[in-house]
Amino acid sequence: MSEKSLRITEIFLSIQGESSHAGRPCSFVRLTGCPMRCVWCDSEYTFYGGEHISFEDIFTRLDEFGCKLVEVTGGEPLAQKNVFPFIWELCDRGYEVLIETGGFVSTENVDPRASVILDVKCPASSEAERNHWQNLESLRRDKDEVKFVIADLADWEFAKEVIETYQLVTRAKEILISPVHGIENLQKVAEEISRSGLPVRLNLQLHKYIWGADARGV
Ligand code: SF4
Repeated sequence: MSEKSLRITEIFLSIQGESSHAGRPCSFVRLTGCPMRCVWCDSEYTFYGGEHISFEDIFTRLDEFGCKLVEVTGGEPLAQKNVFPFIWELCDRGYEVLIETGGFVSTENVDPRASVILDVKCPASSEAERNHWQNLESLRRDKDEVKFVIADLADWEFAKEVIETYQLVTRAKEILISPVHGIENLQKVAEEISRSGLPVRLNLQLHKYIWGADARGV
């Protein structure tokens, strides 16, 4: 039995609210702590506190949920070193694993069986300078997704530049454009995306439409 543990904010069963997996039942393991401070962060409650929970107790909770899709999220899940063996064990147990990461930590030690959903921080987040750009070169075309949370049209222009510079169309399974929830010019953003000719996906946070703006979805 493993003695390892993770600092956890919450473990729950819900609906996947984002990415190409949106709408699928999904268990979430939300890790505590994040070294970033995005201006529009909707997970500030993960920055502090949490509870150390053993791998075995986490697996027991997940088994009780009976859902084979698990997302490991945060906070920044990859900031805890024990997350890497945890992901490995999850994959060994036959779970389909999604890793939602803010893009600050290298993804190189993530088990290759897991799928990475990688944020690229745009200028309005105030954290764009901390992107770990090598992560974009490690994306796997068959399973990894890249996500740009955009707060305004300048962020959209930045996203287009990064998509071109890193040839993300050929590198990622999906390119997600995710407007900050409640953004004023959503229609304008949608029009810009539709006119761009880029094979991107407008990514709205489904859980916030179901359970409200404060919903803890992903
Ligand atoms: S990386 Fe994610 S959890 Fe961390 S501050 Fe940014 S949005 Fe919040």
